[in-house]
Amino acid sequence: IIEQGIPEHSVVTTCAYCGVGCSLRAEVKGNTVVRMTPWKDGAANEGHACVKGRFAWGYATHGDRITSPMIRDSIDDAWREVSWDEAVNFAASRFRDIQQRHGRNAIGAITSSRCTNEEVYLVQKLVRAGFGNNNVDTCARVCHSPTGYGLKTTLGESAGTQTFASVAKADVIMVMGSNPTEAHPVFGSRLKKRLREGAKLIVIDPRSIELVATPHIRADYHLPVNPGCNVAVLNAMAHVIATEALYDADYVEARCDSAAFAQWFEFICSDEHSPEALAETTGVEAQTLRAAARLYANAGNGAIYYGLGVTEHSQGSTAVMGIANLAMLTGNLGREGVGVNPMRGQNNVQGSCDMGSFPHELPGYRHLSDAATRSLFEEAWQVELDPNPGMRIPNMFDAAVDGEFRGLYCQGEDVAQSDPNTHHIEAALRGLECLVVQDIFLNETAKYAHVFLPGASFLEKDGTFINAERRISPVRKVMPPLSGKADWEATMAFANALGYPMDYAHPSEIMDEIAALTPTFNGVSYAKLDQLGSIQWPCNEEAPEGTPTMHVDSFVRGEGYFAITEFVPTDERANRRFPLLLTTGRILSQYNVGAQTRRTANTVWHDEDILEIHPHDAQERGIGDGDWLGIQSRAGDTVLRARLSESVKPGVVYTTFHHPFSGANVVTTDNSDWATNCPEYKVTAVQVTKVTAP
Ligand code: SF4
Repeated sequence: IIEQGIPEHSVVTTCAYCGVGCSLRAEVKGNTVVRMTPWKDGAANEGHACVKGRFAWGYATHGDRITSPMIRDSIDDAWREVSWDEAVNFAASRFRDIQQRHGRNAIGAITSSRCTNEEVYLVQKLVRAGFGNNNVDTCARVCHSPTGYGLKTTLGESAGTQTFASVAKADVIMVMGSNPTEAHPVFGSRLKKRLREGAKLIVIDPRSIELVATPHIRADYHLPVNPGCNVAVLNAMAHVIATEALYDADYVEARCDSAAFAQWFEFICSDEHSPEALAETTGVEAQTLRAAARLYANAGNGAIYYGLGVTEHSQGSTAVMGIANLAMLTGNLGREGVGVNPMRGQNNVQGSCDMGSFPHELPGYRHLSDAATRSLFEEAWQVELDPNPGMRIPNMFDAAVDGEFRGLYCQGEDVAQSDPNTHHIEAALRGLECLVVQDIFLNETAKYAHVFLPGASFLEKDGTFINAERRISPVRKVMPPLSGKADWEATMAFANALGYPMDYAHPSEIMDEIAALTPTFNGVSYAKLDQLGSIQWPCNEEAPEGTPTMHVDSFVRGEGYFAITEFVPTDERANRRFPLLLTTGRILSQYNVGAQTRRTANTVWHDEDILEIHPHDAQERGIGDGDWLGIQSRAGDTVLRARLSESVKPGVVYTTFHHPFSGANVVTTDNSDWATNCPEYKVTAVQVTKVTAP
């Protein structure tokens, strides 16, 4: 700050990294941020921030920022800087040409969970109204789409049930496939505070994460589940609660679909779901499964927090439904201190889903097949909507490889680095006749782009994000967009070039349109956000100031639905050729593919991804700490350095995915969740061998 100067004024905005959504105060001199501090009145963070958020402004003015639109005829050509008009007209004419030659469905778009709600809403509107199809999907496809499916099916709403503050009333906390102290640090601290006060803790994770044993905190039970076996663990726990009559029969009778419950009860009480029967499969001792189930059932207030270690599996949706089953079974929904809490990875995963950027749903999770919903949007948008669901992200890439999908508008998402099976993604991107990338940096995906629309960082625009607790928080412009346009303005220019008119003077007008068309947002406005600071949806006539706890008197779907959760082992199993199971996660100092954190000054940044391997597996292979390793899977191979660690058990290896050099996703496969196609990042059968330094 001494180098940068004393701040002249400050602007309160929302962190653009993780799904905690901390309110931060950006302190500014001229047009430059000189410091960011946590905002004491932020409801999600109560005056705290993590090391990422405090330095979040660093990348915004990094020298790698691209500030001029660029085009090129072929990906082998050099980029040419052009005006905004020339760039959007170039993209529009290529997209129209593709549609004339290959049909209306040969183009589509991917929205970004990094962008604001208003920006995501505009892209899905552009696709449905301007492209004339429903080929729009969100990058939440590859993280929390099973949460949307699983919670909608069982409870009736695709969202977490609580506020973060609710954890202060939890008696037993179950953390499954989530590493809050690294990935959601400010909430992780809140959770640790409650644990220090005496709440009990169950951790279900293949790794011994920090929460398992940290100063003053020790998990009561750590269930080191074998990668891919979450559903079996949840079934075993439910079996214990059902067969030992530990469930809340009154709650189930009053709140849940009795026919579905009876069917499920018969299913779960079968001996095949007993802890003894599933101990070998899950890798968790039967007595630990039984003890953990009893602890959760007798909790008083039992709260479940889960993350991508639950969703990113071939049975991600089944596991989410298994979690909801456990919460309904024990009456742990509808009040403070309990609930089902998906820990969203990115700042606006919840919002990008809420805004209708799934190929089958309009804003507010309303299915396209509903004629009344369609006609509401048709009247507002003055178009006829295609009632047929469009392509999901993996379908778009498969169709691109087959030559049936030719044009993609990719908003703020580095699919080449973040999607699984990199070789397949690269083949798809190479097959496109027109790839439009909108981003703040020339990312890995931009190597295959024909049009680059320079994006604006979160400091350069107004809008809103929605965090993991459904909290809509304001994003406020701190400095003008370096490229001259915020992302919503760029999308508007592209729409107009395509011949579909869009004319908004400010993002508040876009939010007014969202509110008018979406029952759960009817009561939301920028004026109310200014007044209240933030709002948890649903916010409407019944809940004018928002809804901190959902499903209080009844479930959104009416009666809670117990879904049958048959355990189906993943195809991705260890075998002689690939004897180890690789799973992935994050570290505190880096954020996702690292595009921002790697460009932010902070002395604690780690500068490479590392492979954790158990000393027993390392010894068998002659591997020592720091050795270079070749990692091979059936999808591809990469190299990483070794760290010998007992955080992973024998047979399991672990790495992060923050750096393009290591390319962890070169080895992840295109296995995916049966219901949503969310990739199975968390289980990859690999072989690991010592290699010479690359
Ligand atoms: Fe930002 Fe998440 Fe850290 Fe909060 S916890 S400051 S939202 S990265």
